[in-house]
Amino acid sequence: MTVTLTFYGGVREIGGNKILLQDGDTSLFLDFGTSFKRRYGYFEEFLRPRPGAGMLDFLELGLVPRLKGIYRPDLLPEDLIQQYMPDSPEVKLDGILLSHAHVDHSGYISFLRDDIPVYTTAMSAFIGKAMQDSGQSDIEREVCYANLRKLAGNYLSTEKNLGLRPFCFMDNQKLSDEASAFWAKTPMVSKKLVPHPVPDSNRKVGSLPLRYFPVDHSIPGACSFALETSAGWFCYTGDLRLHGRNGKLTGQAIDGMAALHPEVLICEGTRARMESGTRHEAGASEEDVHHAALKHIRKYEGELVIADFGPRNIDRLLIFHEIARETRRKLAVLAKDAFLLEAMRLVSSQMPDFRRETDVLIYEDLKSQSKNWEKDIRESYRGKIITPEEIHRHPGDYIICFSFWDLKNLIDINPESGIYIYSSSEAHDEEGKMDFWRLSNWLEHFNITPIGLPRGKQDDPPDKWKVPQGEENLHASGHAGADDLLAIVRRIAPKILVPVHSLRPEFYREELSDSDIKVVLPEFEQSLSFSS
Ligand SMILES: [Zn+2]
Repeated sequence: MTVTLTFYGGVREIGGNKILLQDGDTSLFLDFGTSFKRRYGYFEEFLRPRPGAGMLDFLELGLVPRLKGIYRPDLLPEDLIQQYMPDSPEVKLDGILLSHAHVDHSGYISFLRDDIPVYTTAMSAFIGKAMQDSGQSDIEREVCYANLRKLAGNYLSTEKNLGLRPFCFMDNQKLSDEASAFWAKTPMVSKKLVPHPVPDSNRKVGSLPLRYFPVDHSIPGACSFALETSAGWFCYTGDLRLHGRNGKLTGQAIDGMAALHPEVLICEGTRARMESGTRHEAGASEEDVHHAALKHIRKYEGELVIADFGPRNIDRLLIFHEIARETRRKLAVLAKDAFLLEAMRLVSSQMPDFRRETDVLIYEDLKSQSKNWEKDIRESYRGKIITPEEIHRHPGDYIICFSFWDLKNLIDINPESGIYIYSSSEAHDEEGKMDFWRLSNWLEHFNITPIGLPRGKQDDPPDKWKVPQGEENLHASGHAGADDLLAIVRRIAPKILVPVHSLRPEFYREELSDSDIKVVLPEFEQSLSFSS
């Protein structure tokens, strides 16, 4: 028997993983993420795909694989199939293995038939639901439930039903009543959430035995997968790191995969970027971030502190909560972040219960009307809502968790001075550079000092933008450094290594030339075959 892997994303790019594995009568995808690199080649803030055109824009521009049988029929009328993929192969998908809830791994699940099972952890599923419930309606973010469309004249308009995808929780979680209620709750009063039947076993996908291994990454719920194919075990790392607070988990996952003596390992290589022979950067740990941020914040007593990090990055949220305590401040978060945290807490007792903390407040932003989920959050945080006026009066009492997208709130707070701690990931593309430039303008306008923010000239290429000396260590990467990546691969010791999610996959070939591991570099839309 032959197993084939076909790479529809994650090849010479960070993210966008969409890897089709086929073995006999089983077909599945390893992640089905948004490729930001390809998408930004055509779209930006004011030039967006048209929701009313369904999949037309994505098919025309090659942002999704041209395969029959996998997409939502409501987004893909018959004439589009005829126009764009008359000769494309038909695939009957048995499932998607979702490694974690970052959009570059999960986003384009939106387009897949809403009855295809998604195998992932309960945590990744709940993060997906909270993000979708509290986000804007967006055709590219329908990971948990499909906002079904129907043809009205020439375009697609939304229907009353939301198709809840069948999520198969790998961690065997028996949901509490509260968690089940959250999962089944429709985000809109006017729409019904219609669930599809969930497969009864998470031990198999199609006819292939399946295992999962929890790992540490910059979002809770991340995991690696292993599949027993007709050509031996195939392992897929997803995104992982050893240097985070839960690095031990990753260590156990590596041991677990090594024990299978895999034929093939598909491994991430985000930080596998160094030229051969150069020193590999170790990078900051979460503890380094804690120390560095605390040191800067102490210097700004009496002034406003804004902390910018991804809201799903729970390790970072906990660090800034600790720093708030250490500097006698209160932590102000947005309602949507509190909602996300509540959702996570429903499936993990290790998540903090911020409702019980007296020093965590909800920031009251200016909104014309609040949605259902927001009313619920305000109710559970009653008496702990903080207004921009109050922050203006006592700026030194708070650390506010805002990201770039929340800067409009500064107009209401109107601070006289303060600092902005940039504790988010490094920019990988042009889009990032523009953001830094706009971000600096906002901060300058409000007399706020940036810390840890890459600086440069507007016309400089992104790699010329540098974090000034003395402002390092304010961000710890979600990905293993180059040395750790090599240690991981050597420990798992597959016969064949296929690097993905990397700008420089040949790194592995150079560094592993002295080992028995054969490194095979994938090509976009090309298949690799393996037989026993
Ligand atoms: Zn990730």
